[in-house]
Order: sequence, then C-alpha cells, then structure tokens
Amino acid sequence: MGEEKREFCGIFGIFSPGDEVAKLVYFALYALQHRGQESAGIAVSNGRDTMLLKDLGLVSQVFSERDLVTLRGHIGLGHVRYSTTGKTAWENSQPIQATKGGKTVYVAHNGNLVNTDSLRKKLSERGFVFRSTSDTEVVAGLLAPHLGGDLVEGLAEVLPKLEGAYSLGIMTEERLVGVRDPYGIRPLCVGRYMDGFAISSESCGLDIIGAEYIREIEPGEAAVIDEDGLRFVQVMEKRKPSLCIFEFIYFARPDSVLYDMYLYHARKHMGMYLAQEAPVEADVVIPVPDTGVPAAIGFSQASGIPFGEGLIKNRYVGRTFIQPTQAIRQLGVRLKLNPLVRDIRNKRLVVVDDSIVRGTTTKEIVKMLRDAGAKEIHMRISSPPDMYPCFYGIDTAVRKELIASTKSVEEIRRFIGADTLHYLSMENLVKSTGRPKEHFCTACFDGDYPIPVPEDLLADKFRLEGKVIR
Ligand code: SF4
Repeated sequence: MGEEKREFCGIFGIFSPGDEVAKLVYFALYALQHRGQESAGIAVSNGRDTMLLKDLGLVSQVFSERDLVTLRGHIGLGHVRYSTTGKTAWENSQPIQATKGGKTVYVAHNGNLVNTDSLRKKLSERGFVFRSTSDTEVVAGLLAPHLGGDLVEGLAEVLPKLEGAYSLGIMTEERLVGVRDPYGIRPLCVGRYMDGFAISSESCGLDIIGAEYIREIEPGEAAVIDEDGLRFVQVMEKRKPSLCIFEFIYFARPDSVLYDMYLYHARKHMGMYLAQEAPVEADVVIPVPDTGVPAAIGFSQASGIPFGEGLIKNRYVGRTFIQPTQAIRQLGVRLKLNPLVRDIRNKRLVVVDDSIVRGTTTKEIVKMLRDAGAKEIHMRISSPPDMYPCFYGIDTAVRKELIASTKSVEEIRRFIGADTLHYLSMENLVKSTGRPKEHFCTACFDGDYPIPVPEDLLADKFRLEGKVIR
C-alpha cells in the first residue's frame, strides 16, 4: 500500500543428491517473493565448483529458463531481498560470497545486525576487501577464514560475535547450513526432499516443491546438511525465544506454519477476538486485501455479519518497474485497490486491516469507501497500535512517523475519517497465536526490545520533534 512495513528477505536452500536443484530453488523463491522484491539470487554447487547468478528485480525477471539450465549442481541457496541495510545495488543482492584458499562460502541473510560498524572495521583492518555495503558481507567475511577447517566450529566461533536478528542460509562447495540467532527473531524451517533436505524461511517454500516439513530450526541452532544427511547442532546458547509477532500478523503467508500453527488460523482468531472486543451493527465485513482477509473472515464468523469483498486488489501493479506518471501516481491507493461501488453504496461497513503504520493509506481507503457511498465505516485492526520502530530486519518508519506514537486512538480515528476505530488488544493478539507472550518479540507495540539496540541507532529512530523519547 506504499506505507506498509516491509519484510527484509526470504531464504531457501536445498541439498538433493543426484538432482539438478536450480529450478527447485527458483520455484521456492517464487513462493517467498512476498518477503523481498528488489533482488533475487541463486548459488549452486556440484560438490566441487560453484556458480552464482543474482540481479535486481523479481524472481521472474532475474532468471530465464536458459539461466536455470546453466546453473548446475545438487546444492542450491537462493535469496529474495528487500533492502533496509545497504542501498539497492547489485553488489548488495544475495547470496553474498567470500573466498579463502580456493574455497567459497555463500551467505543469504534474513534479519538485521546492529553491530556491523565495529565488525566491518575489524575485518577491514585484517585486509578484507568489502564489495558491498550489506551487513551480510560481514558474516561472509568472518566465516571465510574457517573454510579450510570445520565449518560448524567456525560458526560457533563467528556467530556469537554478531548482534541483532539473523536467520542465515550458508552454502560451501560441499555443505548447506541453516542457522537462527539465539533469540530466533526471524523464521527458518527444515524439510525433507527426496533423498535430501531443504531449508526455507517459511514452510510455503517447502510446500511448493513437494518437500515435507520437518520442523523449525531452534534459536541458536544450526541445521547442517551434507553427504552424511541432516544433523542439528546447538551452536549458540538459546536465549529467550523472540519470534517477530508481525510474522503472525501479516509478514508470513497465511498458508505457512509457525509455532506449529497455520498463520491463516491465527489471523482468523485475531478477527474473532476483534468482533468480541468491539462489536458493531453493520451490513457487511470487508477486508483490506490480501492480508486482512483471514481476520475479516474471523470477524464475520464471530459476529454473524456477512463477509464480502468490497475492495479488489490490482495484483500486478506493484510488480512493474515502470515509473508511473505524476497523474497516475496521484491516484494513490486507487492504483492498487478498486472498490465494488454497487456493493458498498448505502452499506454500513466493518473494514478489517492488519495494522496502521503512518495512517495515510488507511485515510485514503476510508475516503475511497465514502466516495463509493458507504453509509458507515468501522475500522477494525488485528494488532495493537504500532508505536515503536524495528531494528531487526523490518523496514519501518522512524518513530515520529508512526501515527500511534503521537496520536491517541480517538485522534487516529478522526485523522483517518472512520466512524469507529478499534485495535486488537495485546492479550487477545497473543492468545490468537497459541503461545505465551514470552515467546515473541512485541517491541513494535511495547518498546520491549529483546536484543539490546545500540544508543546511536535508538536515538536515530526515536527522535520525536528534536527530543529522544523512550
Ligand atoms: S520490532 Fe516489531 S517488526 Fe521488529 S522483530 Fe520486533 S515485533 Fe517484529
């Protein structure tokens, strides 16, 4: 919608003896495309030699059939990226490689490190030449000296130096590894494929190639896949599990499984709780597509108000790289959503969305529905007010741009122009996940950051009208 939070990256890796895996990685990246749309890359290994192809653009734009036939090997690592650290540039697209003594390591990263400045400096002093501004190259640079020895020992030595959120896919000539930071902020799971195994940011990446989901990689754990099969190694001490709760609210696909639950069901429960918390008399419940759909279905089922599709999404407009003209840009949200005017006119609407970031898009949606003749508009949001920025791999505004950090719910209601507005309570959001609050990062809502954030980064994003506010 132009103001939504954007996921940083998606990772997929596979080790399948006797197979050519490039096309499998390609299709899995397609399933993970929602996690990053600025660049895509695939590295493959045949056990001795490696090849890498990456570029800016969507998966469908980066790889041709001919490219995929050229990428030969039974080990593959793929990545889709949306940049938050390091500007959008070819060098920053992933996987990122580093070589040492004729050996190569490829790294694909989902998350964000908060201590890269000091690590970059130390690596530069040791003579490492950086080719990108991405924090992922820091990881590759730190791992490279360990390529001649035991990679798992190398991981146990290098990873504790990293501070921040990271789920990593790591590939060498002979091996594939998936690893999560000690807090498990970003997801990563493992599946079985034929005689081999695969790792994926979300289980939907396994489903699309027919791989069987095994389980999530635990915080601080590595899944090591090679000729000997799959083994799990706890390479770092597990800390308080802190999976990003926004994965449940809308980042991950509804058909993905996290904490043993389809996110579709968690989101439906969020909508049911919304209906309990803020009932209203209305004619129809409509979602803001696509992510508001499961919660709107839940609201409809719990309230008995019929579900309807009042807004139709133009699915492909966000995927063009052609800059719109000024006149087209001024259409704003209309570029992406089109109201079913005849179904909306004179109706009392419950409109369900997953979050409000800056508020400008919600305001445009409300106006569009009013222009279409809606009699009443009752906004229901399936998460609490979003008040704090993310430092762990999600592109969010600085704090002062988050509307809930400076306005009360009533002020937001007036700003967006709705008749009523209600945000889901933290208590019922957490209940919808089936897990206790202690298993999540909920910092967007309560400022309780599980991994310490350096002062300068905090100050940057927390500045509210000249003052640093905590
Ligand atoms: S700060 Fe927010 S977006 Fe970032 S990991 Fe925590 S809950 Fe997720």
